[in-house]
Amino acid sequence: MDTRWPKVLDIISDQISSTNYKGWFAPTKAELIGGELIVYVPNNFVKETLSIKFLPILQPAISQHFGSNTNFIIKVDPGKCGKPPKTEDEIELDFTTPAPRNVASGLNPKYTLSNFVVGFSNNLAYAAAQAIVKNPGLSYNPLFIYGGTGVGKTHLMQGIGHAMLQNNPRLKVIYCSSEKFMNDFVQGIQTKKMGDFRAKYRNSDLLLIDDIQFISGRDAIQEEFFHTFNELQGRNTQIVLTSDRPPHEIQKLEARLASRFQGGLMVDIQQPDFDTRVAILKAKCEEQREEVSDSILTLIAESMVTNARELEGKLLQIVQTAKLLNQPVTEDYVRQILGQSINIPSAQKLDPKKVIIEVNRYFNIKTVDLVGPRRKKELVLPRQIIMYLLYQECKLPYQRIGEILGGRDHTTIMHGVEKIHEASARDREIQRMIIEIKQVLVG
Ligand code: ADP
Ligand code: MG
Repeated sequence: MDTRWPKVLDIISDQISSTNYKGWFAPTKAELIGGELIVYVPNNFVKETLSIKFLPILQPAISQHFGSNTNFIIKVDPGKCGKPPKTEDEIELDFTTPAPRNVASGLNPKYTLSNFVVGFSNNLAYAAAQAIVKNPGLSYNPLFIYGGTGVGKTHLMQGIGHAMLQNNPRLKVIYCSSEKFMNDFVQGIQTKKMGDFRAKYRNSDLLLIDDIQFISGRDAIQEEFFHTFNELQGRNTQIVLTSDRPPHEIQKLEARLASRFQGGLMVDIQQPDFDTRVAILKAKCEEQREEVSDSILTLIAESMVTNARELEGKLLQIVQTAKLLNQPVTEDYVRQILGQSINIPSAQKLDPKKVIIEVNRYFNIKTVDLVGPRRKKELVLPRQIIMYLLYQECKLPYQRIGEILGGRDHTTIMHGVEKIHEASARDREIQRMIIEIKQVLVG
């Protein structure tokens, strides 16, 4: 058996619950035969679960230890495995797909500016990144990139690092998460090597700190970071920070840090719109050298109003499962896989009529106005919320929703659904409305 397999399992166990780990991964073993990795599993149930549900974490973990060109197959062979879980019931069934984890040390070669897809949702951030590469330390310092999860903040930030290294390979570029910064700090104190810690960060030529929001509420770290920041900025050394929200919304962030973070340029990255989603899927296919037809990519982009990371994960799952099952990537097959990921909280579809009635009641408007042609401002939001609920909860196609809402075009519906989807990720007010309306509907 291959000794690297336990290392792959280590990576995986960090990313999933221990129950899931025990149920699905603990009994597995693997060996490399003729350049192909054979992963042994105790039964078909485990095989299917690994190849469908856990592929998005299995694949990168294998690539990390066996190289990205290693093919692997999953084989049922109880004789070669540890003891399997007894029944399905003993295993916690958690059908959210875990995201592949970021390699936190140094730059990931995959994340360059040239393979960053630019669209409406991220073009400002991209332009800022380019400006910085041209004029580091002088155009905007710091550059503060914020946005929801999986929208490409880490990718863009590392792209800046690669591009600057390309211009000057001798630059000292530090990329790390704010957690790594904190761990280094704590270690510096414990081993009485604060001098080394400070030298490392303060002598850099480009400091990229990812997910800075995690330093909130930690006074000693904030103090230390404040001094690091000042020293670098004072020398015109470029600093780039990312966060899941703008500085003033990070709770328990010292005011002096928040004002420093706002003192350069703040740009946000939004959820990708439809065209950008298609472009991202295309780019990922090219990167992986997978051929998937445009109509399939469109189908995925249409069904998944979500961030780049989830799109990429789903694409990978579709392509890899097809290979494992020896099945061509047809529309039916893709629909089937997409169907598995649609998350309906109560597993029941809501009645479209009820949705319309409840939203009208909630906003105190009349159905005639709602389906009518009027573009009055106070009707826009309720209409879009209805579009969103009919799409997400009732699973109606855009076309049909358009018909229900007085013959509106399907692109109008698509736009409305995306609008609310994006807003519900960042706007508390909209979040609250959706939750309240859903409560009445399911209750
Ligand atoms: P974040 O840091 O915002 O959570 P990441 O930068 O980790 O998101 O991006 C998640 C995944 O999506 C990565 O694999 C990244 O390459 C991909 N991705 C995100 N945005 C883009 C983009 N504009 N073009 C290409 N790939 C993207
Ligand atoms: Mg990130």
